[in-house]
Amino acid sequence: MSIELPEAIILAKQMHEVLVGKEIESYHLQNFERMQKVGFLNTNIADFDRLINGKISDVRARGNTIRLELDNNVNLLIAPEYGGEVFYNKDDKKSSSKYHLKISFFTKSSLTVRIKSMGCILALNTDELDDSYMYKRDFLSGQSPLDEEFTSEYFSRKISRLKRNLKSILVGKDAILVGISNSAFQDIIYRAKLFPKKKGIDLNSEEAGGLFEAIKDLVQERLQLGGKIQFLDLYGNKGKYIPKMGPNRKDTSCSDCGTPIEKMNFGGGQVYYCPTCQEP
Ligand SMILES: [Zn+2]
Repeated sequence: MSIELPEAIILAKQMHEVLVGKEIESYHLQNFERMQKVGFLNTNIADFDRLINGKISDVRARGNTIRLELDNNVNLLIAPEYGGEVFYNKDDKKSSSKYHLKISFFTKSSLTVRIKSMGCILALNTDELDDSYMYKRDFLSGQSPLDEEFTSEYFSRKISRLKRNLKSILVGKDAILVGISNSAFQDIIYRAKLFPKKKGIDLNSEEAGGLFEAIKDLVQERLQLGGKIQFLDLYGNKGKYIPKMGPNRKDTSCSDCGTPIEKMNFGGGQVYYCPTCQEP
């Protein structure tokens, strides 16, 4: 289960409430060698020593990445993009043993972070942030669907010039938005009744407006319902948002028109869609 923009925002807000002002006493890393090999964790584990005695001053999320900022110029970036768990443990003694990173606070509480697939945990000085791919991608580029500047006019103008397909416009390294992965993409284009391979330049103004609304609605609904159903928040509470389209609709029919749902391999992942509502 991917942690996309809504889930990252939920976690960051909860962390902001409970962690700001807390001072880090110690940390523990385990089973991190695989992550380190692929660059998902600092090459030098001693980098994490910088967290000790730092006090958390801010927690924010943009895109799929969560940034915990410490008062000593140190940052912890957490991006459990393709699945992960971030838990706050009021009593550290009762925390789960399944984690990659555990941060213990002087208050005897702790934060545990587990990355289940691709995703990163990085301890970085503020002046090193710009060298991080995740930070650059999610904090310094693109537009977030929650930004004030993300308006229907802005989006329609931008998308109508792009000769690329909707997936590459919305997902991945060339996306004009941050925080949307393949999961949200399927849901969004189903809501907007658009064929996945359609190109930006081929959308009429009504379709571009509908796509904009679908993005806003999806993000808002997932925030309101506490994230997707497989998601666990900082306290282990399950999200209640059921995707309108995606792998969970396999072998079912479209709720609008009754056509059996189909799937295609597209843009480095599987895309489920309704061939009638989303005809080419
Ligand atoms: Zn349909």
